[in-house]
Amino acid sequence: MKRTKKTKSMLRRLLLGSCGVLMLLLTFFLINYIGKLSDTKAYANAGSVDTALEAWQEMTVTEEPKKPTPTPLPVPKAEFSKEYEHSGEAKEVLAYDSGIAYGLRYPVYEDAICSSAVKKAAEELLAAELKELSGTSDKDCKLVIDYEDGAAGELVSVLFRIEKSVGSAARTEKRQWIFNKKKGETVNAETLFSDRAYAYIAEQASATAEDAAPLTGDRETFSSFLLTAEGAEFYYEADGKEQSVTVPYAALHTYMSVTVNGNVPADSIRELDPEKPMIALTFDDGPHYINTPRLLKILEDNGARATFFILGDRSFFTEANKETLRQLAASGNEVASHTYSHKNLAQLSIEDMVAEITKAADNIYALTGEYPTFVRPPYGSYNDEVKQYANAPLITWNVDSEDWKSRDAATIVEHVLEEARDGRIVLLHDIHTFSVDAAERLIPELIERGYQIVTLRELFYYKGVELENGEVYHGVY
Ligand code: ZN
Repeated sequence: MKRTKKTKSMLRRLLLGSCGVLMLLLTFFLINYIGKLSDTKAYANAGSVDTALEAWQEMTVTEEPKKPTPTPLPVPKAEFSKEYEHSGEAKEVLAYDSGIAYGLRYPVYEDAICSSAVKKAAEELLAAELKELSGTSDKDCKLVIDYEDGAAGELVSVLFRIEKSVGSAARTEKRQWIFNKKKGETVNAETLFSDRAYAYIAEQASATAEDAAPLTGDRETFSSFLLTAEGAEFYYEADGKEQSVTVPYAALHTYMSVTVNGNVPADSIRELDPEKPMIALTFDDGPHYINTPRLLKILEDNGARATFFILGDRSFFTEANKETLRQLAASGNEVASHTYSHKNLAQLSIEDMVAEITKAADNIYALTGEYPTFVRPPYGSYNDEVKQYANAPLITWNVDSEDWKSRDAATIVEHVLEEARDGRIVLLHDIHTFSVDAAERLIPELIERGYQIVTLRELFYYKGVELENGEVYHGVY
């Protein structure tokens, strides 16, 4: 086969060109290899052979070229304020959807029923707010639902703080949520306080405010509140900003549909006929492990309720007495304080006098989960210091059964019936068998005569008496 000159010269050029390229490539690899080798040596000198190998491997792994990440479009974000206090864990959701940046935060509780109930309430609140905002044509909406929470006895209280903005307009709202852990159900916040409570709250708020502009004592003004261990904290608007006042339960009890600090049934104020006469029987110096339960049965059988001024030391005296007090507290009858050890308060130093009152309150709280609302000073004896430091309304009586004197049931019954009037407070002692014998006859007889036999809380509530700490009440009329 003969090749032409032209073909030969083309082949030669091709060969020469290929050789040149090959040489170039070889040189490149050689330089590269020497470079890496010297690096490896440097590593090997610095550390172990393993390190050197690792370094070698590292260097031989070729990094994949990074894909350019697309620059994200700015998504509006909702943010939670840091000023709200949470009692424990919180769950939060932050999202952006159809022009609304929103955030939802709600509490998580150990009580599973309570926890799922508050989650449901929070989600419903969010859904309602989102629905409302989606109706606006403005596409720059923000919604943040945060909360504050507190607890008082069996009640869990959550105050949702709703902040929303549409364009440049911003608005805040608050929403209540209350749950009774013992009953496992939500409490209607609207009916927690009676109408009369608001005048009292307004008075308290006006007294604490620097600017003495009087506040209207209505439900609307004080619709936002948080139940804490110390009291009900009301949030209201004054001078164009949010203010708050904490009202202790001792003062609010008579205006509340639910007792907040304990196991007294929610119906601690019964539905009674305000037009019919009422009388409050009060029993002192107990509890007594035989006589008190017997009396509770008599009261229950007659649909009557009474108030028991118990002694702190006697309550803890025996297991039987402790149990009696618990039974008493759970019965719907009222547990009140007759101090710790029945000393004449007016004759004690301030320190000892205060100790007598606080020790009894602590004992009652330890056994019943509720602090007593009322204090009855032993022997009905008090002075200005007692009034000042009692931190509770002081209750005496205007009918003395003189049971301790006659020690005879028939005489006691006769004496009380003679003195009985609408609104009166009767003094008896449930530590004596003859007093309970008397109560057994007296209670049906009073009912027969048209009286409703009520607790002090009920009496003051229906008679519209606004109680004040340190004031002394003998009876209503
Ligand atoms: Zn007494």
